[in-house]
Amino acid sequence: KSFEQLGLHEDLLKGIYAMGFSKPSKIQERALPLLLSNPATNMIGQSQSGTGKTAAFVLTMLSRIDYSINKPQALCLAPSRELARQIMSVVINMGKFTQVQTEYAIKENLPKSATHVTAQIIVGTPGTMYDLLRRKVIDTSELKVFVLDEADNMLDQDGLGDQTLRVKKCVLFSTRYKQIREILNSHPFSMLPRGPKTPQIILFSATFPDHVRQFADKFAPGANKIEL
Ligand code: AMP
Repeated sequence: KSFEQLGLHEDLLKGIYAMGFSKPSKIQERALPLLLSNPATNMIGQSQSGTGKTAAFVLTMLSRIDYSINKPQALCLAPSRELARQIMSVVINMGKFTQVQTEYAIKENLPKSATHVTAQIIVGTPGTMYDLLRRKVIDTSELKVFVLDEADNMLDQDGLGDQTLRVKKCVLFSTRYKQIREILNSHPFSMLPRGPKTPQIILFSATFPDHVRQFADKFAPGANKIEL
């Protein structure tokens, strides 16, 4: 299959070819038709770095945006600032021929006084994204896609570093885990019944230990699972 056959917009095809990609990787070929054909489809992808998963969800975010609306429409969470930067550079490169507006949600990037973000795609780390959502600096009324990249790293219970430990039913939840859970437990993600206004959840993870599997089942209900 070619990128054209995946039904991507011409402006995105230009961005893809400018990056030197000639044909979709396996994960792109499998994920994109699913993600693009039905905006209500959640997806859980099991794949390692190096498979082209970033482009798969970046193309989904760029395809889903209404460029005439200057409000956040796609959020992407990554476990580190470095990874958030890498994802953002893919957004900017692939979206070079679009009007996309982007913002980093990483500590020190946004002033504490920021009152609202008009960027259409926001990429960041869990703590900052959580803070911006909680303070309503990010307006979620037009939100269409929410991506969790490297979910196993973000939801990790062992590699807690300096995070606060708390024991709950014999399971250790990190601060990040709880922040992400709280985001997804609140409006508009928790909207029931799920409908066209419920953001699409896309979760990528290299591994699926029990707690990540349970998390994915709960917060990406009915998701299509893709393994690679
Ligand atoms: P990722 O798995 O997202 O970390 O991507 C791994 C690498 O593959 C990155 O350097 C991408 O630029 C590259 N890549 C992703 N998709 C394609 C493609 N369709 N053709 C060639 N290279 C690609």
